[in-house]
Amino acid sequence: MHRALELLKSINQKNFVAGKWTETPEQLEVFNPANDEVIGSVPNLSSAQVSAAIDAAAQGFSEWSKTKVETRSQVLRKWYELVLKHEDALAELITLEQGKVLADAKREVAYASGFLDWYSNVVYSVSGSMQVAGGARLSVEYEPVGVIAAITPWNFPLAMITRKLAPAFAAGCSAILKPSELTPFSALALTKLAIEAGLPANAINIVTGDADRIGQILCDDFRVRKFSFTGSTKVGKLLYQKCAGTLKRVSLELGGNAPFIITADAELEKTATDLVSAKTRSTGQACTSPNRIFAHKSIAAEFAKIIAAKFTALKVGDGFDPKSDIGPLINKAAIEKIERLIKDAQSKGAKIITQFKIEKNMISPTVITNCNDSMEIFRTEIFGPIVAIYEWSEVDEVIKRANDTEYGLQSYIYSNDLSVAQKISQNLDFGMVAINTPIPSNTKAAFGGRKASGFGIEGSAEGIYEYLNHKYLHQSTIS
Ligand code: ADP
Repeated sequence: MHRALELLKSINQKNFVAGKWTETPEQLEVFNPANDEVIGSVPNLSSAQVSAAIDAAAQGFSEWSKTKVETRSQVLRKWYELVLKHEDALAELITLEQGKVLADAKREVAYASGFLDWYSNVVYSVSGSMQVAGGARLSVEYEPVGVIAAITPWNFPLAMITRKLAPAFAAGCSAILKPSELTPFSALALTKLAIEAGLPANAINIVTGDADRIGQILCDDFRVRKFSFTGSTKVGKLLYQKCAGTLKRVSLELGGNAPFIITADAELEKTATDLVSAKTRSTGQACTSPNRIFAHKSIAAEFAKIIAAKFTALKVGDGFDPKSDIGPLINKAAIEKIERLIKDAQSKGAKIITQFKIEKNMISPTVITNCNDSMEIFRTEIFGPIVAIYEWSEVDEVIKRANDTEYGLQSYIYSNDLSVAQKISQNLDFGMVAINTPIPSNTKAAFGGRKASGFGIEGSAEGIYEYLNHKYLHQSTIS
């Protein structure tokens, strides 16, 4: 942990606004979820300071948008190399403020750095189109949208930032970022490295403080031309409305309610191993995490036994303890929500077949069977290491039930029957379908949902177009 503490020293009590490390008399404390101890604090910015961040970003835009593609690529690459150089310290910082186990935090650093690497290359691939027709030259070219604002959550404190900022900077935009108040230090450490990599100081601004007030200022300012948000559907809807006044372009990556469909012929041992990986990633606190496990009735009981054995063997503890398989949840509110969901499920007939123990912010990985679609857990994102098993018998029935949710982000199918897997995949109303694989997120692929899970693409070559405006040029040819 000493590397994280060293890094923390240089960013504690500050944030990076208008090209300067800034402190304020009023501070917001940040806690370690493993023991609820204070690990540091960040400024509670005044409204004037938030506006100054936008002024700086507007200045930063005029500098950065004029840079050559080669410069942007080189800065992103240098940033990538610096993140790799400091990967251990960054991983420790994630564990310290977010709680996930160190091995998992290291995977997050690798995932996060991947966006810097990827967009340092994608920046070269942006190209317009040109047609000469009927005496006219018709062409489309791309320009950066301008100042962008991003609001990110606490479950992936590093990766959710690079997933937005790498394409934004590649496109030539400047940014104001509001990280989650629960995990601001990863964002600040990342910013320090961005400046070291050569990003102009005004191009990146970090604002912390009252989320509602900061959100309002960012949404109301006409100079912010694009808003990118990852978080709850409730807050996403609110910000979408607030952005209407200034007609910003908006990307929303919101909640999920992933179905995980297991057919009768699936390999149960591998399916259970994969389910453990998916449900323990970030201690189950991921919007892509399997939420409703639909097991075919012919294998449901056997599958429940296998997954229960695997879950029972997992050790919960401080993320820094190498013996821990999963860490704490983010806070008490997250624990209370799960307790409420389990109580409701039990009152409607669900059975807990593992231990179900809670100690401070730690919750034992728990398997519940006999779940049905009337339970609150069927409709709610659990955000924890809980496996809720539902039985099904007909393919059409399981498709209908899987789609019976307002969300449409990630979905999973485990099957050895290609035609059944194909039929289910074609009919799932979700932005992403994973077949026989537990962690589908990839920098090179388009991540995004539909319905109440939001819209917009992150990652992939397409992701950069979220930060580019197209300009159509019509010129007459010269005879
Ligand atoms: P979660 O429930 O997972 O914490 P939230 O949507 O509440 O998700 O939080 C995601 C991000 O949105 C965080 O950075 C948080 O500070 C921010 N946020 C929460 N409420 C608001 C708001 N009213 N306006 C702007 N940002 C907000």
